[in-house]
Amino acid sequence: MKNDQGSKILLYPGSFDPPTFGHYNIAERGLKLCEQLIIGIHKEGSTKSYMFSAEERRDMFLSYFSDAQRQRIRVDLYEGLTAEYAGKIGALGLLRGLRTNADFEFEFQMAAMNKHLNSELETVFIRTDGGLAHISSSLVKDVLRYRDIEGMVSEFVANKVKAKFS
Ligand code: ADP
Repeated sequence: MKNDQGSKILLYPGSFDPPTFGHYNIAERGLKLCEQLIIGIHKEGSTKSYMFSAEERRDMFLSYFSDAQRQRIRVDLYEGLTAEYAGKIGALGLLRGLRTNADFEFEFQMAAMNKHLNSELETVFIRTDGGLAHISSSLVKDVLRYRDIEGMVSEFVANKVKAKFS
């Protein structure tokens, strides 16, 4: 399926509160599978409470990418069901990352629900790359509250998190 501009697009939805190197890795690898990658950040939030606003998360996500990558990456803030939003923008599928068995259980159910809601929509999973499996937004926030950590988030993001605690 192609969108209005005729490109093959994947939607990578998530909380990204904040975006980590694990997220960027999935996004960069996903970019190789499509013509345009749309990072989807839900505007209303779910049952979770977030440290950063949707706009702050968008700016943090985009700050990592080069101008060349940004030609093919866009961040959308959206409302409503992800499966319906994917249909609206003409996405070929959803992109999600897998780290652990727990991710698999959750993602498997979520993919089935999304397929039920939009039968045209496939979910593409990319396994985490070596050394990134233990990185999650919530653990990064827990640690940065007390000390610096290397190799998990960009310096830009680390400074934004630390500023929330100061
Ligand atoms: P959500 O709250 O929607 O699960 P997250 O921001 O936690 O959003 O994650 C978005 C997606 O990125 C999920 O598919 C998640 O499994 C994946 N992901 C998060 N961290 C990593 C990582 N370190 N390696 C690979 N995938 C990851």
